[in-house]
Amino acid sequence: MSVSTGEIDVMVSEVGPRDGLQSVARTMPTAVKHRWIAALAQAGLREIEVGSFVSPKRLPQMGDVAEVVQRAVQLPGVSVLALVPNLKGAERAIAAGTPKLTMPPSASHAHSLANIGMTTEAAITEVGRVCALRDSLPAGRRPHIEVGISTAFGCTIEGPVSEDWVIRMAVMLADAGADTVGLSDTTGYGNPAQVRRMFTRLRQELGGKAGGAHFHNTRGQGLANVVAALEAGVTTFDSSQGGLGGCPYAPGATGNIVTEDLVFMLEAMGLRTGIDMARLLAARALVAEGLPGEPLYGHVAEAGLPRGFAPAAARMAA
Ligand code: ZN
Repeated sequence: MSVSTGEIDVMVSEVGPRDGLQSVARTMPTAVKHRWIAALAQAGLREIEVGSFVSPKRLPQMGDVAEVVQRAVQLPGVSVLALVPNLKGAERAIAAGTPKLTMPPSASHAHSLANIGMTTEAAITEVGRVCALRDSLPAGRRPHIEVGISTAFGCTIEGPVSEDWVIRMAVMLADAGADTVGLSDTTGYGNPAQVRRMFTRLRQELGGKAGGAHFHNTRGQGLANVVAALEAGVTTFDSSQGGLGGCPYAPGATGNIVTEDLVFMLEAMGLRTGIDMARLLAARALVAEGLPGEPLYGHVAEAGLPRGFAPAAARMAA
């Protein structure tokens, strides 16, 4: 297996096996999930969100998450993440040996109730409880806890979300013990000016605890928002292979930004991701195999790589 270990400038965190698969009606067979995640690792993805510890009654697509985590942690060079909505999910994730947990409290009250069945205030308290659980574990068994504030750029139910509130909430979550706090455009409402402003404020307030960006491409702003976040100093971006994804509780929110297009843009801009474009494009075949007929998005996959395309690392060495 070839795993790139060189230096990178930007971390691309693949969320397709979680954000993507939970929003499509059909369930990808567990064996194909394993092969897909392994192919993403072979392509050089260094962080993969492999599933969600939610109630399998609520999201049957995630019923095999413990098994998927246990296989994924054996892949060399990959940081394995799973989403946990609450303390119960965190307990299950920790029991399965998940090294990194991600929690999605919503800035919007209505989305919080719809998505995780608790108020925003309760969700912030819940992050504190999960951090307390982490702190009670022996050193070496404590998972990393990242938080991504959902609906940080607007909500399909409530509309605009106060920027001041999002930043205050980020500070509360960092104080509650989260290792990092990032911002998620769950609904695809964000625009580049807003993204630059919000991440600049986030980084001013949280310093080293400021986390990454999670964008959806619902209104075609995804990659423009990435560039704006890069300008604000963000170096971690979530994306989904083939643009799978959305949010079952944010009506009209379509897929995540497309990993293939994101990696192409970053590499073309001279920013190293450690990801091999050809292998990444080839991994799409596994999504097609596991979810026959499901639409896959992506401009680079459709148009192909430009003639003479060279990744950032190759151009630096030249
Ligand atoms: Zn999302």
